[in-house]
Amino acid sequence: MMCLKLKCNSLLQKINKELTDNVPLVKPEKYLFSRPKNISIGTTNISGNSLNKIIIYLRSDVGGEHGTETGGCACCKHWRLGTAGIKLDIPNMYINQYLYAVKLHGLQPVVSLYNEGNILNTNEVPIDELIYIIKHMSKNNVKKLIIESRPEFIDQNKLTKIKAVSGNMTIEIGIGLESVNDFVRNELFLKNMKKSEYESAVKIINENNMKSLTYVILKPAFLNEVQAIKEAIETIKYVFNAGSHAVSLEPIGVEPYTVTNLLYEDCKYIPPKLWSVLEVLKQTYQLGEIRIGACQVSPRPTTLPSNCDKCTNKVLEKFDEWNCTYDISVLNELYCSNCYDTYIDDVNKLDSFIDEKSIEKDILDFINHYNTVSMEKVTNS
Ligand SMILES: [Zn+2]
Repeated sequence: MMCLKLKCNSLLQKINKELTDNVPLVKPEKYLFSRPKNISIGTTNISGNSLNKIIIYLRSDVGGEHGTETGGCACCKHWRLGTAGIKLDIPNMYINQYLYAVKLHGLQPVVSLYNEGNILNTNEVPIDELIYIIKHMSKNNVKKLIIESRPEFIDQNKLTKIKAVSGNMTIEIGIGLESVNDFVRNELFLKNMKKSEYESAVKIINENNMKSLTYVILKPAFLNEVQAIKEAIETIKYVFNAGSHAVSLEPIGVEPYTVTNLLYEDCKYIPPKLWSVLEVLKQTYQLGEIRIGACQVSPRPTTLPSNCDKCTNKVLEKFDEWNCTYDISVLNELYCSNCYDTYIDDVNKLDSFIDEKSIEKDILDFINHYNTVSMEKVTNS
């Protein structure tokens, strides 16, 4: 008999992969690929100082290779959106996109460079182009560069090449471990990542005197609010013990073409409350540098993590302040007479134990429902 867990994972992954086919692709027109997909300017905190930061989202032609093979994780299709879905073979495509951003905005002391995939996967971004870009930043007084990659693409050969051109610039490499719990990370969030791979990657980053950043999710689909809080706290403790220099806490929002969105439309998922983000932070901030990610999108759809209409903006502003100061006193006084007490009552009724058998049943119910609805659509068309 097939193991229930294996069956759940492969069926959920199958649905997630099918959703990829609905993601609209951009036309393979050269002008689109001569500039980044997006550029954003903000501030960040480095060693107690607030510094300007530019985020450059490179536009990929092929998209994230891992996502293409597996459907990616359960909560976003960033790795596919805005891509052409095919290799374009435009010479120096990423260098030209980077230089376009620099010409438009100049460089800032802190640069985040993303390709919506794995920047250290040479099938996505040629290593020579990445090295050119890093060398250019280093020569132009960038103090810190943040990139991200799955652990399997982080190896000594690439880190040696990066180190050779980065001078005094700090290199921070982000890894989406998401959760310490194998069931949550791989069965619910569809991450397909081993903890041992993560640990080896953090070790090699640290041995090369680079900084490791770990993305930790808050409230993937199928977990309730208190299971999610407990899970994020345990994950943060684990990643600091594993040697990660910093954490980016990512409260999950609802994005199109995802399993999370299907559940949301079926009233089976709501994003975490900002109070839960605060709870995780209050219980872990002493352990190391924790940034709050994901909430600061503007304009803010209702499907992002939020509280009530009266306090959401105020709490988000305080989260921004936290990210620029890491001063817990900016968060201590947060309270809302409209929603906080109800939130506490609600979470007190929930069980924090992650019962895998019960969750697997929820997953199978969801899969059966999805298949029935899909069948009806086919019959009616
Ligand atoms: Zn409120």
